[in-house]
Amino acid sequence: MRLPEILTADLPFLTALRRDLHAHPELGFEEERTSAIVADLLEKAGVAVTRGLGGTGVVGTLQIGNGTRSIGLRADMDALAMPETAERSYKSTVSGKMHACGHDGHTALLLGAARYLAETRNFSGTVHFIFQPAEEGRGGARRMVEDGLFKQFACDAVYGLHNMPGLDTDEMAVVAGPQLASSDSWRVTFRGTGTHGAKPHLGKDPITAAATFLASLQTIVGRVVDPLQSAVVSACSVQAGNPQALNVIPDIVEIGGTARAYSPEVRDQLETEIGRLASGTAAMYGIAADYGFERRIPPVVNNADATERALKAAGAVFGSKLRTTFPPSTAGDDFAYFAGEAPGCYVWLGNGPAVDGALHHNTAYDFNDEAIGPGVAFWATLVEQELAPA
Ligand SMILES: [Zn+2]
Ligand SMILES: [Zn+2]
Repeated sequence: MRLPEILTADLPFLTALRRDLHAHPELGFEEERTSAIVADLLEKAGVAVTRGLGGTGVVGTLQIGNGTRSIGLRADMDALAMPETAERSYKSTVSGKMHACGHDGHTALLLGAARYLAETRNFSGTVHFIFQPAEEGRGGARRMVEDGLFKQFACDAVYGLHNMPGLDTDEMAVVAGPQLASSDSWRVTFRGTGTHGAKPHLGKDPITAAATFLASLQTIVGRVVDPLQSAVVSACSVQAGNPQALNVIPDIVEIGGTARAYSPEVRDQLETEIGRLASGTAAMYGIAADYGFERRIPPVVNNADATERALKAAGAVFGSKLRTTFPPSTAGDDFAYFAGEAPGCYVWLGNGPAVDGALHHNTAYDFNDEAIGPGVAFWATLVEQELAPA
């Protein structure tokens, strides 16, 4: 891959920046240092900066020429609450916090693109560099949208990028259709009547009901959802009774878990069916069940037109190493909220081999600096192509 000279010259700076961000991870909505660095570098590059959108979010706007099209590029800035175990010179300096998803890399890439485009000015139109807080389950994208992101910065299309172990660093996957699943939480509380463990007939045992519910839970995916559609339902927490009191049947059992789908229809179906199974099981045992389903993140489904444009740019940068098929992830990304406001496309940039310790949310994970050049080249090419002067 041949990179433009201006970009090659900026790589040492961007690599040092990426490692500095890595060494100073901040959790969602706490990205004070990171967003200050972002805003400062954008300003120094001559990009108009809006701070404090959705808490610690930052938007940089670069308008060149008289082109009327406007696009948004998204980077996420937050780290995870987990320890970094690998030794490296730029290891996290904050105990219990680490950039284990590569958002340090995403931030450096988008800053690299802003610096490059502000220098070369080889397009006509408006690009909004969107630096969002709190992607990791804390709702940063939604907050930015609620704060008026797309009212203040109208976008004709919006793009997101995530690194992906398993693809080479000079490789990118751009695929139409579903990319990431919806990510929702559910809770069921079975309310029986506690009693002596030796006298179950004097109470209403919620534990046996919970066991029936859990054993039936996978029939939703196996027997109710269309076999040609993907879905995941997992129970991830069960709380009941006390291991110090093995002769006491408790009053309640609390169960919680996650539900994932790639289509709004299946998502609705999971919400309905988990609740139906809970209330049906409770009725069967003559107890009560409370049910809650919290919609957290919609699925990320790539828009056909935006995907066409991303494919063209990725083809120009990655050539034969552009993949047009790649399996979707059952993880979620709240980029879905941005893609709900404008035609969106989410692409995967290679992060090198998917070996032990190189996977997302692993305590030894690291963003691969070899991907900085290709990633910046993709963003810059996308802007130059989409906002090509008439
Ligand atoms: Zn993550
Ligand atoms: Zn991530």
